[in-house]
Amino acid sequence: MSDTRETDLLGHVPDGLYIGGQWRPATGGRTFAVTDPSTGETVKEIADASVEDGVAALDAASEAFPSWSTTPARHRAEILRRAFDLLTERKDDFALLMTIEMGKPLKESAGEVTYGGEFLRWFSEEAAHVQGRYGANPEGTGRMIVTQHPVGPCYLITPWNFPLAMATRKIAPALAAGCTVVVKPASQTPLTTSLFVQLLEDAGVPAGVVNVINTSTSGPVSEAIISDPRLRKLSFTGSTSVGEKLLEQAAVGVLRTSMELGGNAPFIVFEDADLDKAVEGALAAKFRNIGEACTAANRFIVHSSIAEEFARRITDRVRDFRTGRGTDEGVTIGPLIDERAVEKVSELVRDAVANGATLRIGGEVLERPGTFFAATVLSDVRPGSQILREEIFGPVVAIVSFTEEDDAVRLANDTEFGLISYVYTQNLARGMRMIERLETGMLGLNVGVVSNPAAPFGGWKLSGLGREGGAEGIHEYLQTKYTLTPDPFA
Ligand code: NAD
Repeated sequence: MSDTRETDLLGHVPDGLYIGGQWRPATGGRTFAVTDPSTGETVKEIADASVEDGVAALDAASEAFPSWSTTPARHRAEILRRAFDLLTERKDDFALLMTIEMGKPLKESAGEVTYGGEFLRWFSEEAAHVQGRYGANPEGTGRMIVTQHPVGPCYLITPWNFPLAMATRKIAPALAAGCTVVVKPASQTPLTTSLFVQLLEDAGVPAGVVNVINTSTSGPVSEAIISDPRLRKLSFTGSTSVGEKLLEQAAVGVLRTSMELGGNAPFIVFEDADLDKAVEGALAAKFRNIGEACTAANRFIVHSSIAEEFARRITDRVRDFRTGRGTDEGVTIGPLIDERAVEKVSELVRDAVANGATLRIGGEVLERPGTFFAATVLSDVRPGSQILREEIFGPVVAIVSFTEEDDAVRLANDTEFGLISYVYTQNLARGMRMIERLETGMLGLNVGVVSNPAAPFGGWKLSGLGREGGAEGIHEYLQTKYTLTPDPFA
């Protein structure tokens, strides 16, 4: 990968705020730095939105709403479809940019472009299929008409770990439903959204329909938008602690909310599992995105008769991993997003080992520029260790063992989160029992990656509210109206 290519690409990424179809500097001219986590170096300075800028973005979204919400669905669908085609054409640029600002290996960034793009295609198809109902009331005295309407201007807050897909997963259904949006990307990874919004303009999205504000002061800027009575919907993906704060703020205006929050996924391997497949699934569920995924397997709950063999095989595979800058050939593990992430992962590993876990491989911060933590395997992790309670968000496997099915279920459900679970078993009845017994919004039954634009993604318990993707995804941006009219024959 040549530096010139990176410099050219970074030069093409707009550095302003995108409000009402115009790129503009922040009020007061403030900027903040975006860094490459694999080197710690600044790659670009971008506009840092103030509270006034946030409100200006909501002004633009509110002004554009009457026209966009009454634009024929087929027309909105065609714009989204064009955006899908353009993203497919520009795939390499988006992949490289994500690797630069977020750190994941280039191949995984390319995978995210495909995944993120599919939300554009899926919701371009859904846009034209929003329907209502018509029928007589049971008494026969009237006709009931049920119609669907866009909720209004939306505020979309995205995390840094999937800079493109988390944006398309919100923007595409919102636009398909006829809503206008203000998007606030994570301050660590704002560039991908800026490049994407340029693409949306090329695809024909009218001015004011999508507005983007990047800011280093998310709290006050967001609060002003959320408390504005013109806003009708908040969609957030991020940590449970921030999500809880935002829900409190959203309660004042009784906003519709979608909350995609943290996870603590159990990965259960029964003694009757196909071990080869379980190991492959485990590696995908754990190390994809450097372990920085809400769907990442957090607790490996493995039957005691195969726990040693499972740990040995995973450790052997981890030994072959290559850590480095995501643009380098053969790299499988990139840097963590920042110092804070490195400190958190280090502390979880230290605590697990202090409590008696066996460190099989890794366990240390790498001595090199950037924020790298070695891929790590811990076995015999003891109950009470922090690593079993908290989302690791890093490349660390934590293995515990069990002997009875009931214990596996109890351990798996022993968490305040409920985003996703994974189960490996060849016993059909046992698999069915897991579908019924695990407290989880999603389940990978003999698969290690479940994400799919056609499926309802979302969690139970503290993992969130609402669903993104699938037939459900567009309904998060629609509201229902029921009309009663007298029997036309009476
Ligand atoms: P985070 O909560 O720190 O930040 C998420 C977003 O919220 C960012 O845009 C950030 O700038 C913004 N933010 C932070 N404080 C805010 C405030 N006070 N008011 C308004 N906005 C604020 O989370 P993160 O570290 O960026 O992302 C990692 C978390 O996201 C993990 O917990 C992960 O599980 C979760 N996540 C969940 C899903 C899902 O679909 N359930 C997907 C990806 C990530």
